[in-house]
Amino acid sequence: MENFIVSARKYRPATFDTVVGQTSITSTLKNAIKRNHLAQAFLFTGPRGVGKTTCARILAKTINCENLNENIEACDKCESCVSFNNSASFNIHELDAASNNSVDDIRNLVDQVRIPPQVGKYKVYIIDEVHMLSPAAFNAFLKTLEEPPAYAKFILATTEKHKIIPTILSRCQIYDFKRITVEDIAKHIEYVAREESVEIEEEGVHIIAQKADGALRDALSIFDQIVSFSGNKVLYESVIQNLNVLDYDYYFKITDSIFNGDISKTLLIINEIIDNGFDGQYFIIGLGEHFRNLLVCKDPETIKLLEAGAAIKAKYSEQSANCKADCLIKALEINNDCDIYYKGSNNKQLHLEISLMKMCSLNQNKLNKISEEKKVEIPITPKPASQPKPEYKNPQIKTSGLTQATKQTQQSTQESQTFSTQKKVIPGTISIKTQNIEKKVEEAKEDYSTKSQQSVQEEKFNQEQLELAWKSFAKTIENKNAAFYSTLINRNPEIKDDFLIEISIENKFQEKEFEDNKQDLLTHLKNELKNTKIQFKSKIIENIKEEKLYFPQQILKKMEEKNPNITKLKNQLNLEIEF
Ligand SMILES: [Zn+2]
Repeated sequence: MENFIVSARKYRPATFDTVVGQTSITSTLKNAIKRNHLAQAFLFTGPRGVGKTTCARILAKTINCENLNENIEACDKCESCVSFNNSASFNIHELDAASNNSVDDIRNLVDQVRIPPQVGKYKVYIIDEVHMLSPAAFNAFLKTLEEPPAYAKFILATTEKHKIIPTILSRCQIYDFKRITVEDIAKHIEYVAREESVEIEEEGVHIIAQKADGALRDALSIFDQIVSFSGNKVLYESVIQNLNVLDYDYYFKITDSIFNGDISKTLLIINEIIDNGFDGQYFIIGLGEHFRNLLVCKDPETIKLLEAGAAIKAKYSEQSANCKADCLIKALEINNDCDIYYKGSNNKQLHLEISLMKMCSLNQNKLNKISEEKKVEIPITPKPASQPKPEYKNPQIKTSGLTQATKQTQQSTQESQTFSTQKKVIPGTISIKTQNIEKKVEEAKEDYSTKSQQSVQEEKFNQEQLELAWKSFAKTIENKNAAFYSTLINRNPEIKDDFLIEISIENKFQEKEFEDNKQDLLTHLKNELKNTKIQFKSKIIENIKEEKLYFPQQILKKMEEKNPNITKLKNQLNLEIEF
């Protein structure tokens, strides 16, 4: 049976031109060889698996070659090249400082340096992981590095430049190896796959390239591992399964539901992800990257920063077009906070869910649009036509139009989701409420007549002025009462009949919240608009299918209703909702 050679070794580059992703370094080295300006000592630094040792070997081979070609690459035919290729050259000495870091090891090396090369021009000493040398070994080496014989070249390689003492650093020409880009790694994997007659899906290649995090060697090891698992046909699914990577699709799906303001769907998706065994924080980091990629797609200038296959790129562009940049940035902020506080959170899944719900409430235009689609006009009295004109003093009017809502509620019962609540309609409540309404209308009439006798000159205002005053009030409570602030900026007041302002309310929570806080708002509007007759009228936008919960405290309340243990948990751990 043929011996299996790992791809990282089998496809290790043998010339400068085949080194992946380090063109600036290889061309500098080639120029130095061409001009005969070679330094005595080099320090190759950079993350692991990016080609430091490979470049060191190529350099050693090239400077010893007897017939360099025009392109400053080794000929592969001369005696020196052949012995290099057979790993039989006496001109190259490799020392792994990770395992040979004593003074004696360095003394052995220094002794060898004294003997000039028998064949070829240079003796090349490659010291890998040079930062692992003991301080005594460093000192023993320093002398040689200060005055080396002309035929000796030293190439030190390290992943941790900061651990090298300055006296060594100052004697070396330093080359910083970069992480290899996903694009370059992907190209190389595709090349290796072609050579090995392995069919691999493009998206799978990109996942491997991303997972390798800039290290080509890691990428090829992953490739080998997956090929041995799935044979000569590698599908995207088998790659993500093998690497335990979360499918792109999840991020696309959850982003769609977040920016559609669909809390229930978002929660279902995250639940599925966690059920599949993925760590919450892993997901948060992935989601952050996803948002970042969407932002990057917003500008043709930055689109090149997106590291993904063509099909995924197209998907990103498409989704990016549907998300507003400011929403994405806010979502990223929430995501970042979630990441920072995740470790310290006592209930990690709740913490994650709350963050996602916050994100869901970002795209308010969408939310409003959805509510409008589901909006049911609610008549204030049984006969809207005969509705009296005056303002209502305190129209605490609950829903009606219930029969229609009831039917639809029953239809949608099957679709009931985690935090949705079905409206239960108790027969009889309608008439009671109607009586209430009529009473209120009577009160309002009286109130109106007394007021109109005062005949104070009130200033008229238009919708624009109203909205300005509305927003200026919202600003004043932004920090004091974030929940009400959020309600206010997401509700557009509308002028009805002169000084009557209609506010659409989405659910009972908001209604209560509005009732609790409206007095200050009213005072503010009266002052701003110089009109003491301003009155509010609230209109409930009946959400037929389910009651949407947008604020953490609402959701918590709903969760507490469903499971009283949550209240216990909250109290025992002294948890608080974060805004
Ligand atoms: Zn040669």
